[in-house]
Amino acid sequence: MEKKNIDWGNLGFGYMQTDKRFVSNYKNGAWDEGVLTEDANVVISECAGVLQYAQTCFEGMKAYTTEDGHIVTFRPDLNASRMKDSCERLQMPVFPEDKFVEAVCKVVEANEAFVPPYGSGATLYIRPYMFGSNPVIGVKPADEYQFRIFATPVGPYFKGGVKPLTIRVCDYDRAAPHGTGHIKAGLNYAMSLYAIVDAHNQGYDENMYLDSATRTYVEETGGANFLFVTKDGKVVTPKSSTILPSITRRSLMYVAKEYLGLEVEERQVALEEVKDMAECGLCGTAAVISPVGKIVDHGTEICFPSGMTEMGPVTKKLYETLTGIQMGRIEAPEGWLKVIK
Ligand SMILES: *Cc1c(COP(=O)(O)O)cnc(C)c1O
Repeated sequence: MEKKNIDWGNLGFGYMQTDKRFVSNYKNGAWDEGVLTEDANVVISECAGVLQYAQTCFEGMKAYTTEDGHIVTFRPDLNASRMKDSCERLQMPVFPEDKFVEAVCKVVEANEAFVPPYGSGATLYIRPYMFGSNPVIGVKPADEYQFRIFATPVGPYFKGGVKPLTIRVCDYDRAAPHGTGHIKAGLNYAMSLYAIVDAHNQGYDENMYLDSATRTYVEETGGANFLFVTKDGKVVTPKSSTILPSITRRSLMYVAKEYLGLEVEERQVALEEVKDMAECGLCGTAAVISPVGKIVDHGTEICFPSGMTEMGPVTKKLYETLTGIQMGRIEAPEGWLKVIK
């Protein structure tokens, strides 16, 4: 398989049209078989449920080339099951989980020429998504849906070196109790755009959202979960029913405990105790972990001892171990790597 002539190391995080994508339609109560197509455009009614009432959800995952030349995806079964949860909460039909994983593999295989080579730092980003496609004018769930998966190569996240983030405690809320914070709904992102543009205008990289009921506990950012390291070396992550259950975060907590022998805790984290933490990071598929150097709470700065130039030592170990597992340099726990080729 000849790879595309792409400058892998200098790719950013953007969309590039690749050769094939998967499309399956839901009609009369059933999903069709689905096909790979070269057509990158979606044509739907002007009154489609997704356009009028935002009935849509998505997933995000990656394919990697391992050290020994295989192409793998990381825990795709967890993306399938999270998408099931998203669909159920949005009154959308579930795309069967086993078929989801199969379709992901098909898309990666069909775009093998776009899977970045080992060592380039780049990866193939995979975007499964679903939306209500038939006309809906009264507020109700659509009757027809489309499930699609495309893939696009993305560059190394820490191009030009690691740069710890500066984030602010945000006055806007991300998720209400009993709302949709725990699912990957497009609407959660639409309503976060105002706050992130404002944060960027004020010179911050990200927003730290607090629990909207009491505004005392740490939730997450617009697209990544928090992980903290205490001064006595415990790895702590906020527990809340309104944060999105990051697969990266769950994997890092496992790695901390089982590979690094660290104590781990998933519990409520008060904003008040953040100043006593030794390290802070943001976890998600895009970066695995981005170190946070500073949190600004309305003029009060919390500066982590790990500083503004590098990852803290525990964050770094976690990062190296998980990326080592993903790239096949470190033995993965049973079932974590789905070998495609
Ligand atoms: C997707 C997402 C994450 C990260 O989840 P991963 O499975 O690790 O990629 C975290 N928070 C939000 C709000 C997200 O949408």
